Amino acid sequence: MNAATRACALRRAYFLFALTLAPLPVVIWLIWHEQPLAALLLFCTVLTTLMIGTLVPRCALFGRMIKQLPQAGNQVLLTIDDGPHPQHTPAILDLLERHQIKALFFLVGKNAAQHPHLVREIIARGHEIGNHTQMHPAGTFWLLHPTRLWREIADCQETLVAICPDHPPRFFRPPAGHHNLFTALIAHALGLRMMMWSARGFDGVQTDVPTITQRIARRLQPGAIVLIHEATPVAIEVAQSVTSLLENSGLKCDTPPASLAFGDDEVATKPPAH
Ligand SMILES: [Zn+2]
Repeated sequence: MNAATRACALRRAYFLFALTLAPLPVVIWLIWHEQPLAALLLFCTVLTTLMIGTLVPRCALFGRMIKQLPQAGNQVLLTIDDGPHPQHTPAILDLLERHQIKALFFLVGKNAAQHPHLVREIIARGHEIGNHTQMHPAGTFWLLHPTRLWREIADCQETLVAICPDHPPRFFRPPAGHHNLFTALIAHALGLRMMMWSARGFDGVQTDVPTITQRIARRLQPGAIVLIHEATPVAIEVAQSVTSLLENSGLKCDTPPASLAFGDDEVATKPPAH
């Protein structure tokens, strides 16, 4: 990634940050003129808007994201976060093969660096890899400033491209889906589209496999993007249950269609390959 692209993206991100501070002088002016209620109302409105846009994963207030497959026909997309994992990834790859399912693995850069052979195995088996940050700072990702955000996403991209130069990730998913004002802008500058999901069972925080599967089943329909995780206590059981569910649904489970990586309007501004 060239320095000019990075500098331009960071300039735009910090400009956005400055814009969010714009209501502050008005709040101070209202307090100064003894209108504390109006000041409080304005402050709370701005803060609530920022919090909703940041912490609600599927809220697209701060930039475009993919939440389901457009014009999907009969296709659904299975996405698997947080790998590669030395035990779970090989087992899940075998399961996917048995059920004839292709998936998109959102990989963490530091895990990929530890197990590069698993990244290559994912690709060799016909699946796709996505960018899920270098260190997966799930609790603080939404708080990161633009420069640190850039590092998290760019470092993961570099790690994965170094392992599989012919298969650069096309999609980015923020840890826990939390994204701030700058995330989509920076991901886009790095040639990535942000992808969320439409069906998840909360397997990252819960361990009741039937409940997790039922939650996903309720939201399973053509175009759905399903989310499950590696590196949880029930990763294999969830993968077994969800792959059976997908096979029995009659829906086609394949990697994302090529048209999903960049919309027609975005092709012209796609940054050069790196
Ligand atoms: Zn994650």
